[in-house]
Amino acid sequence: GGTIGILGGGQLGRMMAMSAVQLGYRCIAYAPDGDTVAADVCDDVFTNRWDDTAALAAFAAKCDVVTWEFENVPIATAVAMPGGRIFPHPRALETAQDRLNEKRFVEGLGGKPAAYARVDSPGELMAAVDRLGAPGILKTRRDGYDGKGQWRIGSSRDADALRLPDAPLIYEGFVEFGAEFSVILVRGQDGEIRFWDSTRNVHEDGILSASLWPAGELVDAQVVEARRLAGEVADALKYVGVLTCEFFATHEGPIFNEMAPRVHNSGHWTIEGAATSQFENHIRAVAGLPLGDTATTAAGVEMRNILGGEIEGAHAFLADADSHLHDYGKREVREGRKMGHLTRLTRA
Ligand code: ATP
Ligand code: MG
Ligand code: MG
Repeated sequence: GGTIGILGGGQLGRMMAMSAVQLGYRCIAYAPDGDTVAADVCDDVFTNRWDDTAALAAFAAKCDVVTWEFENVPIATAVAMPGGRIFPHPRALETAQDRLNEKRFVEGLGGKPAAYARVDSPGELMAAVDRLGAPGILKTRRDGYDGKGQWRIGSSRDADALRLPDAPLIYEGFVEFGAEFSVILVRGQDGEIRFWDSTRNVHEDGILSASLWPAGELVDAQVVEARRLAGEVADALKYVGVLTCEFFATHEGPIFNEMAPRVHNSGHWTIEGAATSQFENHIRAVAGLPLGDTATTAAGVEMRNILGGEIEGAHAFLADADSHLHDYGKREVREGRKMGHLTRLTRA
């Protein structure tokens, strides 16, 4: 037993807490904003601000170990947790929260990101488009998710017409990929690493729509190299817990897109489709327990996100005996919002 503190209160925290409860832990969440769906499975929720030092101290005092489910937890918040009792180490947040840092870090380990340029002014955007060419994607360096904070640039004329947001930016050359995939691994406190099978991930409008396994020849051929990089990232950060790296499979090999220092939407299929889910292994790692087997137990897996109003009537999907529904219990339905997911297994 013991108490696990989770920074953030969304569906990732909810599924993490469900695994923790199964293993005999109690969970409490620290979640200043939003629809805190993790509250359904947590004993307590702190809704104080991220910078409320008294509340953070009170939260930490209640926890044996702390982790996060949200990658934009302020560094100062993570650092306010007792050292050696927060996993992964906050340095992982620091690396991943800024797309420019993240790319430089991965290049330092021999990884290949898309061509990129730092952009802090309209002039720098024009120079970046001149140098790297178009099409490309302009992204905010921080705080983006589900494709938010991104602008497709088709030509220098598009770049010229764009009113730049008041935030640090990065311009990336558009990668002509054959497929997208993710490497999800868990690293234990003793440094042991285990990988789940890589799914092919399909995005629509910048939001993950489906994760499919088998992932196909193109992805399978690039997983070894992508795993080598992801493993080096994890080792370099002395990472503890589940780490995700997203890649584009191209004719020149795997191109690193971004990392998420946490459990990941493209790993939801592991709840039913793997011997041990990403959520359970994340909890095992942060709690210092032995890691579970990550092997895929089905012959095929298909995870589909349920967005917005599609959640209404989702029980109808269960007419298919091989489908499993996860409804996150969000109170507010918004268009494009992740409300739940469906995992369909092909039996082994
Ligand atoms: P997430 O919800 O995964 O954190 P995000 O908002 O951080 O998403 P990215 O992963 O950077 O966004 O981009 C979202 C999607 O947009 C990618 O999965 C990919 O489909 C497309 N995309 C992003 N960058 C590029 C690129 N340089 N070339 C081609 N496609 C891209
Ligand atoms: Mg991202
Ligand atoms: Mg992404």
